[in-house]
Amino acid sequence: MKLARTAAIALATGLLAAAPALAQVSQSCIAGLKSRVTRAGVPASLAARALDGARYNEKVVRFSRTQPEFRTPVWDYMTFLVDEPRVADGMANMQKWGKTLEAVEKRFGTDRYIIAALWGIESDYGQIKGEFFLPHAMANLVCANRKKDLFTRQLIAGLKLVQSGDVKYDDLYSSWASAFGQTQFIPETYQRLAVDFDGDGRRDLVNSVPDALASTANFLVKAGWRSSEPWGFEVKLPAGYKGPSGRKRRASVQDWARRGITNVDGSPLKSNFQAGLLLPAGVNGPAFLVGRNFDALYSYNAAESYALAIGHLSDRLKGRGTIAARWPTNDPGLTRAQRLQLQILLLKAGYDIGEADGKIGPVTTVAIKGVQKKNGMKPNGRPSMAVYKALGGR
Ligand code: CA
Repeated sequence: MKLARTAAIALATGLLAAAPALAQVSQSCIAGLKSRVTRAGVPASLAARALDGARYNEKVVRFSRTQPEFRTPVWDYMTFLVDEPRVADGMANMQKWGKTLEAVEKRFGTDRYIIAALWGIESDYGQIKGEFFLPHAMANLVCANRKKDLFTRQLIAGLKLVQSGDVKYDDLYSSWASAFGQTQFIPETYQRLAVDFDGDGRRDLVNSVPDALASTANFLVKAGWRSSEPWGFEVKLPAGYKGPSGRKRRASVQDWARRGITNVDGSPLKSNFQAGLLLPAGVNGPAFLVGRNFDALYSYNAAESYALAIGHLSDRLKGRGTIAARWPTNDPGLTRAQRLQLQILLLKAGYDIGEADGKIGPVTTVAIKGVQKKNGMKPNGRPSMAVYKALGGR
């Protein structure tokens, strides 16, 4: 009896919790948003068309609140962002769009391999389409009081892109946080930096590869890209290295050479630009000298592992090899193919995770925790090699 009562209370609490959530896109909130948007210069008819149908979207609000339970290790990022299919697809796309990449390189002074790598990681070379209708996603975030000013501005900028003819209304599909198109720009960045490179008069980063590639180059140039320098390169530390590190602690490459740092094959460092020593996993993992161009990549998406993935993928697209040093872990990350296979193995093992799509969402995370608990591992939901092997993956 007592148990039943507790359950009933829990259920009632659950319902109470759900009620304000549903009210998060209340008619009054939508009305307020519409008047805000029209005051900013968006035609009332466009504002109504974009916002009148907005309904509560649990997923958008949940994504905006998700706190990761573990810090994704750099080797996880590197393994799924720079896997063999992404290298092969990149090489094929670089052939296909060779003339465009050459023209972009000429006009902006950016490296074509870097542009291709960014394109490959941002949208899998234009394959990935946005999941959420941008105005509705923004309405959900604003009405749920998630970074209200930022997302109101993205809503306004997104609708103005439609008004100006750059973007078709039906192409306004984005991530939960409004990044969209093949470059994954948020609308304000799009307004500021998008370029019409195919000459049709529209800056169309959803459908035009030339526009997308040129806009990426324009972003990097504005972020300080220098055509005379590489993004960086892998180096070898002397045994027992205890000197300075960090991407912002720059010295000339020759200064680093004097500290005993060499190329990975042990040969002396030859170049001489200003660089920081990046140790993404400490002194026992791979080491890189990275210059100002690394910062330009970092400004695209503020994570060192992201910038490193772009730089490394660009090297792979040039035909260079994988990172020479080993990551200091006995539980490596999974490639995209292995992530998909992990889900298939979870389904086989009886975990009800719906359809295997290679995306590690909350349902897959719960299943992974189950496997980890069963096998005496730390239940943090990380899709790692140990979990994969525990399920029989090879
Ligand atoms: Ca265009």
